[in-house]
Amino acid sequence: TVAVVLFTSDLRLHDHPPLRAALASSDEIVPLFVRDSGIEESGFAAPNRLAFLSDCLRDLDAGLRERGGRLLVRSGDVVGEVGRIVSETGAADVHVAAGVSAYARRREERLREALESGGTRLHVHDGVVTAVAPGAVTPAASDHFAVFTPYFRRWSAQRVRDAFAAPRTVRVPDGPGSEKVPARGAVSGVSEGLAEGGERQARKQLTAWRRHGLAGYEEGHDDLSGDATSRLSPHLHFGTLSPVELIHRARSAGGAGAEAFVRQLCWREFHHQVLAARPAASRQDYRTRHDHWRSGADASKDVEAWRQGRTGYPVVDAAMRQLRHEGWMHNRGRLLTAGFLTKTLYVDWRIGAQHFLDLLVDGDVANNQLNWQWMAGTGTDSRPNRVLNPVVQGKRYDPDGSYVRRWVPELAAVSGAAVHEPWKLRGPAHDRPDYPQPVVELADGLARFRKARGLD
Ligand code: FAD
Repeated sequence: TVAVVLFTSDLRLHDHPPLRAALASSDEIVPLFVRDSGIEESGFAAPNRLAFLSDCLRDLDAGLRERGGRLLVRSGDVVGEVGRIVSETGAADVHVAAGVSAYARRREERLREALESGGTRLHVHDGVVTAVAPGAVTPAASDHFAVFTPYFRRWSAQRVRDAFAAPRTVRVPDGPGSEKVPARGAVSGVSEGLAEGGERQARKQLTAWRRHGLAGYEEGHDDLSGDATSRLSPHLHFGTLSPVELIHRARSAGGAGAEAFVRQLCWREFHHQVLAARPAASRQDYRTRHDHWRSGADASKDVEAWRQGRTGYPVVDAAMRQLRHEGWMHNRGRLLTAGFLTKTLYVDWRIGAQHFLDLLVDGDVANNQLNWQWMAGTGTDSRPNRVLNPVVQGKRYDPDGSYVRRWVPELAAVSGAAVHEPWKLRGPAHDRPDYPQPVVELADGLARFRKARGLD
């Protein structure tokens, strides 16, 4: 018998329940990835993610070849392509990871309809994209948790299945032809410092992280210049690492760093369960604050300064330039740049979220849109009107200014924390025509925000 394993957001061989189930119950399998025209034409497929995806697919193919198999890649409508492969190979079963996004769940329904009418069985596996399925734990009176802490408590109490090893051998049928996956160099518009994708790279990073990073995570995770987070987010987004395996590995290492890290992994699942219950929150306010966001030429000018990393607030600019250069940004940077756009500049969170999605290699609808809503105060934050001061934040999380100097060369000659307030510099160092003046005074931005939200 033949079974198709449809890879989606789970581009790995380790800890892969659909692959394991297919190998256990069929003689041969067809590992399949469909470059889904629905996603590639939606505008969601940004160059950084397409380049990272190329790495992932080439690496998955290499891993399968080492085990006697290969990856089949097709392009088009995913349901149509699966149907075609089923009829080309006579497959009786199709295995896929349970979808956690609305898009993936629709895909699952369409697959079920198309396959089952032809007598092919669809097997949907939980615990692949997230450790705990969205909706698996709910509070008494709602279909999802709107507050993180009680969710974290329930989530932590869930039994997480054991992680599986990668298969040793894979047998594939002769026949169905595959498209060639172009190298990442074929994608244009990619960030210069983009990280490398693929499961092998993910596992190297995981090993290094467990040895050198995890123990210090609790203390170091907010330190912008220390850059002491795992940088595993793109691997979680593309599924080159399994969240189940990560949780087990962190828990077995133990300690405060591991606990703090598992808590962050839970944030990822928290946002997924919110969006699964409220799919419209990808575009609409989760909780409306009746905002009349700024628009017009003035606002556009400010947005452009923010996008380019030229707001005149060094830590904001450093983070925005890191995003453009690497397709990734430190979480503290994401918090303060999103807070700056939505509160200090009072610009619609959707504009900022789109810019992030255009560049982030880990760009993910649930985590991006809901973190943006959190910072805009339209999401699940219980203190929706708090405003982060970028100067205070800069001094706290980049105390010696080295993060700013790394990304803002115009200020490279300013030493220490003085780099966070270039407008205070006197003497020759003050003559800095290439670095902009602040786009707005912080006090004016705050007053505008408080008035708009009716807080005074
Ligand atoms: P670590 O600190 O090492 O954390 C480990 C993992 O936990 C991360 O890889 C991630 O999967 C998860 N995680 C950590 N913090 C969060 C969080 N606040 N929300 C959800 N998951 C979290 N994360 C994305 O994966 N995709 C996004 O598109 C995204 N957009 C964001 C937009 C804004 C405005 C903000 C404030 C945060 C966003 N995040 C997003 C969350 C977080 O910033 C990144 O997950 C994190 O910076 C990734 O770096 P890391 O892997 O080194 O994280």
